[in-house]
Amino acid sequence: MRVMVIGAGLGGLTLAHGLRQAGVDVVVYERDQAEGRPQGVSLHFDDRAVTALRACLPPGHAAMVEATAGGQREHTMCLSEVDGELVVEAQPESRARKGRQVHRPLLRAVLLTGLTDRVRFGTGFTRFEQRGDGTVRAWFADGSTDTADVLVGADGIGSAVRSQYLPHVQVVDTGKRMLMGATALHAVADTGLPGLIGHNATSVNVRGTTMALGVLRFSQHPTAARDQWLPALRSPVVDNAEDYVMWALPGAEPTHPVLRRVVEKAWPDATAQLRIGLIPPMPPWPPGPVTLIGDAIHLAPGFGGNLAMQDAHRLCDALVHGGPGAIGVYEKAMRQDNFLHSVGAV
Ligand SMILES: Cc1cc2nc3c(=O)[nH]c(=O)nc-3n(C[C@H](O)[C@H](O)[C@H](O)COP(=O)(O)OP(=O)(O)OC[C@H]3O[C@@H](n4cnc5c(N)ncnc54)[C@H](O)[C@@H]3O)c2cc1C
Repeated sequence: MRVMVIGAGLGGLTLAHGLRQAGVDVVVYERDQAEGRPQGVSLHFDDRAVTALRACLPPGHAAMVEATAGGQREHTMCLSEVDGELVVEAQPESRARKGRQVHRPLLRAVLLTGLTDRVRFGTGFTRFEQRGDGTVRAWFADGSTDTADVLVGADGIGSAVRSQYLPHVQVVDTGKRMLMGATALHAVADTGLPGLIGHNATSVNVRGTTMALGVLRFSQHPTAARDQWLPALRSPVVDNAEDYVMWALPGAEPTHPVLRRVVEKAWPDATAQLRIGLIPPMPPWPPGPVTLIGDAIHLAPGFGGNLAMQDAHRLCDALVHGGPGAIGVYEKAMRQDNFLHSVGAV
């Protein structure tokens, strides 16, 4: 069986590792060059991503991600203002799944380690054709083509595979916007904020503005972790990593001086304005040799990465144990679990 994956994002690379470990012939086509584009600094990783990592990645890769992740996030903390100071208001039982924060550029570097012979960078997919013998042929922007038994669209929210395969499925702009960024911890260490937050996901509601915050303190510094778990990892991200606070602003910028400092001292290249999109639930379609994983088929606020990796794990299992004929089993589980929260960053 030969599998062609479109997109070297979280889902596509996790799937490629899993298939490769199982001895399946897999190739990944990625539109961007190897350096890629910044796609956020931090990810909240819950049990779904951890299970997928452990199942699909070689043990050293998974250990590298877990060793460097931040501490366990036990609560969603709420902060308010008393006499000008930020104080802990409550620690309500979190509705979000518990998890840990991981550094996204580091995760990407880990996922690419050992796959360079399988990923064709700078090769944008344009269209496919299902052939009479059951195989699928794909065309790329540089004029090249490739043929496989299975074509997986792991090409994110603007998926070209989805546009051709399920043209009725549309991404709707909700009109909501979110400013996201990250700030070195040392730049705000004297404010007392990092100590208040600890490892928890935190929501601040003061002076009419809302802000979400989270601190990533690497449990093991990436340099030491690389030497211990994954010496083959080659990336400047490893040596340059430092602890930081990530933040999200769904509305106006804060006026409280501590929160203002967080925003003013942010790393410019880690700050981005996101548009929040929605994929409405859709009726099932008959399974075939073309399928979709991750943001290409469902969107989720703050946990789309977890779902993309869960999809990769489930699809890998289905293909390894049942071949292309088991794609419907994966799609049924994916639709059941993921369409309820199909909202994410456009
Ligand atoms: C700022 C920010 C913060 C986030 N925080 C979290 C979080 O804390 N937790 C969480 O779980 N999720 C989070 N998410 C969501 C998460 O990033 C996505 O859900 C996840 O990246 C989806 O993975 P994917 O593999 O489906 O797609 P992507 O990671 O988007 O990868 C798609 C890949 O396909 C490539 N591609 C696109 N078109 C083509 C083409 N035509 N040909 C070839 N390649 C193509 C793209 O270049 C890209 O590399 C966040 C997102 C953002 C933007």
